[in-house]
Amino acid sequence: EAITVGELAKRMGEKGAQLVKALFNMDMMVTVNQTIDQDTAELLVEEFGHNIERVSADDVEIKVEQDVDPEETLKPRPAVVTIMGHVDHGKTSLLDALRGTNVTKGEAGGITQHIGSYQIETKDKTKITFLDTPGHAAFTEMRQRGANVTDIVVLVVAADDGIMPQTIEAIKHTQAAGVPMIVAINKMDKPEANPQKIRERLLEHEVIVESMSGEVQDVEISAKEGTNLDELIEKISLQAELLELKANPDRFADATVIEAQLDKGRGPVATVLVTRGTLKRGDTFVVGTESGKVRAIVNDQGKQIKEAGPSMPVEVLGLGGVPGAGEQLTVVENEQRAREVAQYRREKATEQRTALAPTNFDTMFTNLQSNLVEFPVLVKADVQGSVQAIVTALHNLGNDLIKVRVLHAGVGAITESDVTLAAASNAPIIGFGVRPNPKARELVKRDGVEMKYFDVIYHLTDEIAKEMAGELGPEK
Ligand code: GDP
Repeated sequence: EAITVGELAKRMGEKGAQLVKALFNMDMMVTVNQTIDQDTAELLVEEFGHNIERVSADDVEIKVEQDVDPEETLKPRPAVVTIMGHVDHGKTSLLDALRGTNVTKGEAGGITQHIGSYQIETKDKTKITFLDTPGHAAFTEMRQRGANVTDIVVLVVAADDGIMPQTIEAIKHTQAAGVPMIVAINKMDKPEANPQKIRERLLEHEVIVESMSGEVQDVEISAKEGTNLDELIEKISLQAELLELKANPDRFADATVIEAQLDKGRGPVATVLVTRGTLKRGDTFVVGTESGKVRAIVNDQGKQIKEAGPSMPVEVLGLGGVPGAGEQLTVVENEQRAREVAQYRREKATEQRTALAPTNFDTMFTNLQSNLVEFPVLVKADVQGSVQAIVTALHNLGNDLIKVRVLHAGVGAITESDVTLAAASNAPIIGFGVRPNPKARELVKRDGVEMKYFDVIYHLTDEIAKEMAGELGPEK
């Protein structure tokens, strides 16, 4: 009835040394190879925040489970909906129409650059949360992350344009995530609208709408004229009901970071979606590898609120740094625990980085052999979501001959250290929605560092792709 510390660590997906340390704190001096009894093992497992399942009274098998809320604690929660579709098919217009505001006009290049979210209340007083996802292919990764917290996808297809590359991409992501889809055939006010053709073309991508004897709901709308939006909301409600979405609101909150940025006046600000529990002002939390304390919670209408329950999108103030989109915010009992968890996550991250480094001779050999040209760059952007999207897009530009090497990527203004690094590596600095601070500007002039500013992702990728082609020369 015993298990070695090492074996238990393996099953828990933790480091043996961490377990030994925890045991030491419990006044037990053991090494990784020594055995511990089942009660101690259970205690340890719980200490690390996992739930366990005792297979039988005398079975040493310890199953480590993701910690799940017991059925009786679950209460209904609003559905989280993401609108996807090809650029210009009307995602922003639909989000605006549903919200009753207008943000389309002010955005650079007409493309949504960040994720924004809000809740509406239906006629029968149930709530629906809408997550705003970016409209360009370069944002695929963020969109993919978005799909993880998404219960229902509304696929917008313009009736005058039909199935386009990003429509197909959106379908693939949705299908891969196993999330139900509702097709909104938009721009029905246009005379050339042909919704039937869209239904037929969707068949090729295994999206079979009800009128074609499938199970996917579809609705013909005009985001511009506000036609049939009630019907769309009804269909979302219907789909949500079928899903029986629930979460435990009476516990410490877990939330997912949708986007985050450094705000001049307020410091690091994250938009998060509460996935379970209730987030309260004053709560101590860990997000990524940083700890923090909720200083303020701001709802989708810009009002300060005291707490936020499941499926609520809110802004959180009081973070130690700017977290990455998709990172988990976890409320913990006290600051001591927050520091421990943050420290533990940092160690784990370091471990993963080490594991990712090329360590075998084969990869080293390939790198030496090929004449792969590297195109070094530095990336600074206004929000973390953009940083991630840009880095992904830049990596995708590479081929067998040349690849982008991102020396550094981060959020905020371009600083002196950015310029120094760029000068030392003879790399250009890409600023996305950000500019250099005054000191950095002086250095740029002195060192002759190349600066490139963009507001739209595809302008950025087009330009860098051209530069990379130039680097290779016409012969290659
Ligand atoms: P997004 O790139 O998918 O977010 O698309 P937008 O919402 O920015 O819309 C792209 C263009 O299509 C804008 O000029 C909108 O005014 C227009 N548009 C959106 N919905 C409709 C619609 O229902 N009817 C018509 N005629 N135009 C629309």
